[in-house]
Amino acid sequence: MSADPHPGAPLKLFNSLTRRIQTFAPIRPGEARVYSCGPTVYNYPHIGNMRAYVFADVLGRTLSWKGYDLTHVINITDVGHLTDDADAGEDKLEKAAKERAQSIWDIARHYTEAYWADVKALNIREPARWTVATDYVPKMIEFAKSIEAHCYELPGGLYFDTSTVADYGRLARAATDAGESRIDPVEGKRQPADFAIWRKTPPGETRQMEWESPWGRGAPGWHLECSVMSEETLGFPFDIHTGGIDHREIHHPNEIAQNQAFCRSNKSGANIWMHNNFLVERSGKMSKSAGEFLRLQLLIDKGYHPLAYRLMCLQAHYRSELEFSWEGLRAALVRLKRIVMVAEPLAELMGQGVAASTGPQMTVFLERFDAAISDDLNTAVALTVLEEALALKQVETAEKLVAVMMMDTVLGLNLIDLARADLRVRPKEAKISEAAVEGALARRKAARAEKDFATSDAIRDELAGNGVEVMDGDPLGWEWKL
Ligand SMILES: [Zn+2]
Repeated sequence: MSADPHPGAPLKLFNSLTRRIQTFAPIRPGEARVYSCGPTVYNYPHIGNMRAYVFADVLGRTLSWKGYDLTHVINITDVGHLTDDADAGEDKLEKAAKERAQSIWDIARHYTEAYWADVKALNIREPARWTVATDYVPKMIEFAKSIEAHCYELPGGLYFDTSTVADYGRLARAATDAGESRIDPVEGKRQPADFAIWRKTPPGETRQMEWESPWGRGAPGWHLECSVMSEETLGFPFDIHTGGIDHREIHHPNEIAQNQAFCRSNKSGANIWMHNNFLVERSGKMSKSAGEFLRLQLLIDKGYHPLAYRLMCLQAHYRSELEFSWEGLRAALVRLKRIVMVAEPLAELMGQGVAASTGPQMTVFLERFDAAISDDLNTAVALTVLEEALALKQVETAEKLVAVMMMDTVLGLNLIDLARADLRVRPKEAKISEAAVEGALARRKAARAEKDFATSDAIRDELAGNGVEVMDGDPLGWEWKL
């Protein structure tokens, strides 16, 4: 029994498998190994998908903050994910390639890059490894062979018999309904929950992506991919497996079943399973049918800095639903501006090489901050601690700076680089150029100098009509009006 060598409060995390908050205890001393289910790259990521990676990023940053040597792996699924998670429908990438008459590899590359662009824009740290599913197919075949005793063959492929492992679906039972009704009835399946780990290409058909296997030409199942990539890169057992809450019913129970078969034990493959809740949009105005697909670029096109969306995610607990609205996003942007307005001058001092250390006052704030994030990643409270620290008057600037920047290593708002001016994102539909705004403001300044307030007001109104808000006394002078 050695004491936790890592500073601050013990790190408490909610484990979906036990439905309990538990203290993080690394498998290997000083190390933390985390696997996150990544995107299926057949389309642009919805901002709701990106919430999962903001959450995984905060988890990783918290583990680093606690002093653990972090190895984080995120996969890229470029084959095997069907249009329905529950083992039905077409392969998402094959379908997209057919519809757009493009090569599947081009589709995968395009959307992987789009996903990476969002990762960067949201200041999500790069994981140690991005594993791409198609790079691991030979390993998947080996893995499948090693668990063949748990499987049976049907005309459609090699199926996993879920009755051969102990307590199948215990993770799903954390939810109220195990979602059995969503499972596709395939003729010959022994249990409704049995799933394909290898899917044969139907006779007479060809797939753009297919491989030879002992069970015929075909492609791996999506669930198999994550078991194999996590085992290959992190080794069973590893510390934490993360994913969206939608994975709790089918994808992760199936991964666990395969892991149990592979390890010949009842262990799930990871000590802790963590799931972030959904982003919900109640007004229904943002559905795809309304013509606007809610992706990060749409937010930027409308004049919102992507980190306003990150802040919006941090304002909610990852296990709570996060309701999206444009008003909510606007409020998050305003909040981010307030933070940046105070932090910006501090960050400038950093550039001037101000000697930095934390004093006793800031230590109290850092302890409170640590307590918040150690409490199952309570970023909402951590944010308010950051704001209180920023608002503190009677404290050395350098001291404050160090504390704020330390907190930001977890929150990831990029306060060291982010300037107020960066938050002024030009909306795509803006009718006026920035140069024209600056020109109008110069004319307005001249009019005011001559006390010609009628002209000055007219220019202000004209700018307002073009979506520009003039802010007298503000160092930035003007802002796009959303
Ligand atoms: Zn996965």
